[in-house]
Amino acid sequence: MGCAVGIDLGTTNSAVARRNAFGRPEVIPNRDGGNITPSVIYFGVDPPLVGQEAKEWARLGDQEIASFFKPHMGNPRYQLEFRGRSYSASDLSAIVLGRLKDDAEGRLGEPVERAVVTVPAYFADPQRTATLEAARSAGLVVSRILNEPTAAVLAYGLQKTGLAETILIYDLGGGTFDVTVARVAPEEITILATAGDHDLGGKNWDDRIATYLAERFAAETGFDPLDDPVALNEVLVRSEQAKWTLSDRATARITLQLGSERRTFELARSEFEAMTSPLMDRTRRLTEEALGEAGLAWPRVDGVLLVGGSTRMPMVRGYVSQMAGKPPRMGVNVDEAVALGAAIQAALDAGETIGDAVPRFTIAGTAPTPAKRVVDVMSHSLGVVALNATATAYINDIVIRRNTPIPARETRSYAHETHGGSNTRLEVYLTQGESDFPLDCAILGKYVFEGVRPTDARVTLDVGLSYDSNGVVQVSATQRDTRHALAMKVEPVPDDLSWLGRPPESSAPAEQAEPCRVLLLLDGSSSMLGEPLHEAQTAAREFLARCDLTRMEVGLISFSSTVVLQSSATKNARRLHAAIDRLEAMGSTNLTDALELARSELAAGDVARYIVVLTDGYPDAAESAVEQAQHARKQGIEIVTIGMGDADRDYLRRLASSDQASIFARKGELVGAFGHIAQVISEGGRGLRVDS
Ligand code: AMP
Repeated sequence: MGCAVGIDLGTTNSAVARRNAFGRPEVIPNRDGGNITPSVIYFGVDPPLVGQEAKEWARLGDQEIASFFKPHMGNPRYQLEFRGRSYSASDLSAIVLGRLKDDAEGRLGEPVERAVVTVPAYFADPQRTATLEAARSAGLVVSRILNEPTAAVLAYGLQKTGLAETILIYDLGGGTFDVTVARVAPEEITILATAGDHDLGGKNWDDRIATYLAERFAAETGFDPLDDPVALNEVLVRSEQAKWTLSDRATARITLQLGSERRTFELARSEFEAMTSPLMDRTRRLTEEALGEAGLAWPRVDGVLLVGGSTRMPMVRGYVSQMAGKPPRMGVNVDEAVALGAAIQAALDAGETIGDAVPRFTIAGTAPTPAKRVVDVMSHSLGVVALNATATAYINDIVIRRNTPIPARETRSYAHETHGGSNTRLEVYLTQGESDFPLDCAILGKYVFEGVRPTDARVTLDVGLSYDSNGVVQVSATQRDTRHALAMKVEPVPDDLSWLGRPPESSAPAEQAEPCRVLLLLDGSSSMLGEPLHEAQTAAREFLARCDLTRMEVGLISFSSTVVLQSSATKNARRLHAAIDRLEAMGSTNLTDALELARSELAAGDVARYIVVLTDGYPDAAESAVEQAQHARKQGIEIVTIGMGDADRDYLRRLASSDQASIFARKGELVGAFGHIAQVISEGGRGLRVDS
């Protein structure tokens, strides 16, 4: 059987590693003896050249060059022509992977058949699928697509013993930036959150120097290199070299020979840092976004890990130290960590002996530690285009929230009108993105389900979405009443999607659901501290996302030892989001006063009124809370209770309007439970379905 390797298929450089005979992951040098292979192809000869030689041709300004194609993976519009043939980014990646495979086989003297291939965490489904296709056409069986920062954590995690730590991975490569927050425990690595930008990397720093040099060159000679592709290429090559120099020295001298003009410029590191500080600030915003998603602040981060060639710039170390309040951890080779982590995963996937067996994996000769299980997340929410509650607009209905651990599967129900058999087809447009508006999201595909069996009434179709462990998406649909799985076919996404921004034309006249007012009562006692509160906040945001605020008013009360009206009932989503962000956990559980306050807030008005209580424990003065709930119900207010953690199910049933209106959510289920309640309330429905 051939051997299994880990491949870091990078934007600028790629690397291959595998577990060696001593159980350590190590990089396999390429045919030139280098540990990294530039992801560059030269088509001027047949077969094309890949790697350092191709990069040399690029440096000389040859146009038969393909480089920097990874950010275009999965983009059908990106096609390059060479020698009369057209290549997609996936075709180009297949050529690089083929070369990496050949070189590794040459070194190892045995076939390389299976691989773990890494991708930026920020890659969405089309990019992951394109990566899988590239590997397949290079003759590789991919056991897994692994997020690059996860691979780095894997390489790094194995250096640790004993302690559980929270680590932030700051990965700045040639063309992408990824930031990941991970919990690294002795037996398990859990990715808590990721964020990133696949248009931010070392190339942006090169471009900044290039613009600066071009301006100076144009000012002195009258010739603007930006107007001439060959001259621009030369300036870019010199700019990258100057950037490298500035990683070691305080000044770089750059000589440009363009046509008959020759000029030498000096660039100080301090000037370079000043001109690129907006780029560093972009990394800060994304880093803070990832921390926010993980519900953490800097003091809770035990260490920062730098990955990617661009973190060699001293400004990165300085910036990260200042931002994190501590210097980044050293000891991992920034160019090799991803490939080494992928090699560890490849060995695990191949079932090679790990854990207690000898030898165990170590890096850099540190003490052996057991292998890790990886719990990864996806950095994009997955959803479908749906109608809003009043059928007046298309919305992006998020089904699997970003940063949900993968593999993940969720099902959501949609009403479908068969019109007596003339409409037996369901079209599902799959979205990836965070916005409520479909046109702000990537439309991943159009899935058409045929054969809905007609009934007199509306039928319920359960649409299932899943992310597999590679982050690749699958879609299914089942007719609820017949339990009949519908046959699916994939159709091309139409070029013109502008209809998504207009009110639906052919929808049935909107059944105007009744206006209503809802107060969320969220437990803020000390037992909610940390992850439970974070999950409750995410769930409350999901609740809002699913509410139709054109006719609903939502308010928020937090209860602990003190009861705070964080927001009275409003249609203002921004105010509600700010109120959710403010929530804190401390003290005991004064539900009685919270219910009383909610009653008085809901006293007026002849609209439908709801109180939704979330708690993870048993309240103080439990019986008087029951009395308050009874008063509220007598006033015509519906009470829904959601229990989590140590909440007492029987007690919560006593508070709720009916058994169906009392739900218990296990860890990870809260967001779905809140979303479901919002949907039921939005539709003006009574009688909540119990999911357990
Ligand atoms: P990667 O995609 O991780 O291979 O990173 C490639 C990027 O790292 C390119 O933009 C390189 O210019 C950059 N890089 C490599 N070495 C250095 C260095 N010594 N100083 C600054 N940037 C570097």
